[in-house]
Amino acid sequence: MPVVIALLITASLLVFVAYPLLAGEEASAHLSTLPVDVTPQVDLKNRRLVLYENMRDLEFEYQAGKIAQEDYEALREEYTAHAARLMAASQGLLRTSPEDALIEQEVARRRNRRRQATTDYVCPKCGYENPLPVKFCGECGQKLKSRS
Ligand SMILES: [Zn+2]
Repeated sequence: MPVVIALLITASLLVFVAYPLLAGEEASAHLSTLPVDVTPQVDLKNRRLVLYENMRDLEFEYQAGKIAQEDYEALREEYTAHAARLMAASQGLLRTSPEDALIEQEVARRRNRRRQATTDYVCPKCGYENPLPVKFCGECGQKLKSRS
């Protein structure tokens, strides 16, 4: 049973560590358009980032031989438990937050629009997907239907 719990914590830690990397540009672009007041969501995120920093520092100091093995393990366990709690709190918010539903909606809308934009410039003659709104196909010169 403790093994299962340890695995669960490890899994959520992985997600926690990987999330800022995976979230990438799209997520940060969206965040920058949100109001700047600190919502519970943002607060949790900030705390996660701080914790992440601490964990990285701990890792560095251990690698550099500045921390004894048992101190390192104790601290890491503490951080891991903390991360798991923040993670759980964050997911609790995700499930209920109406703000998040709005973000999801906006993401879907933009994705849809982008997909539409590319198909608008697909050449009817040769099938080439022109990357920009152009009047003539970049591949075969066929006149494309104008949108305006
Ligand atoms: Zn063409």
